[in-house]
Amino acid sequence: MFDLEKNLPAVQHRIAVAAQRAERDPNDITLVAVSKTFPPEAIVAAYELGVKHFGENRVEEASEKIPLVKNQLANHPITQLLHLTWHLVGHLQSRKVKDAVPLFDYIHSVDHVELAERIERNAAAISKTIPILLEVNTSGEASKFGFPLEPRDRFFDAAKKILTLAHLNLIGLMTIAPMVQQPDEARPYFRALRVLRDELQRRHPDRAFPHLSMGMTDDFEAAIAEGATMVRIGRAIFGERA
Ligand SMILES: *Cc1c(COP(=O)(O)O)cnc(C)c1O
Repeated sequence: MFDLEKNLPAVQHRIAVAAQRAERDPNDITLVAVSKTFPPEAIVAAYELGVKHFGENRVEEASEKIPLVKNQLANHPITQLLHLTWHLVGHLQSRKVKDAVPLFDYIHSVDHVELAERIERNAAAISKTIPILLEVNTSGEASKFGFPLEPRDRFFDAAKKILTLAHLNLIGLMTIAPMVQQPDEARPYFRALRVLRDELQRRHPDRAFPHLSMGMTDDFEAAIAEGATMVRIGRAIFGERA
């Protein structure tokens, strides 16, 4: 139906090869299958093949789809074995925070202190602590969301404030590389994210920021070469989106 049985192992193999080439443990790289625009059946099919992490980019779409997936899995014979983890990878609008917080296990796209504060209030209200990543606009493209790379101090001031929010657990950084001709041309943007994370880590030795969410269908091997711990892959798994 979706060619999943062919696509998924191929992607997993490419992740393993890229990890090996970078002398990294493939187990340190989480595959987040980006299921946006695809139906619940595609998610259930990937789940049956062992995928545990799913990414969605729109709160509205996810709030319809996640309950449907949960319904379909309620009577599933292997439900006991796996827990599905939902990642919000797309831009989060302020007015959608209230819906997003109960729905998602991770939010990758925190790009303002005010947004973080709103997530904090909503998470506190339901006694949830939510792992988050700060999105950084490493390319500086106007079409992209995220904290600007420069000035550095503004980013670090924002991170410092966000680290005081009790119901947020800042675990790392996220970026979307620009479209390039050759995947390796994306490496400087991924490297910039890693360098920024390393500096954040130096400034907060008492905290841990192990995660770099970077790499998509067209550039995930380049991202793994630069240290990605979460790759967000849609089309290579589920096929082209309509
Ligand atoms: C759609 C999307 C992805 C996956 O993109 P593919 O090119 O389909 O792999 C990853 N991250 C974000 C933020 C997205 O919106």
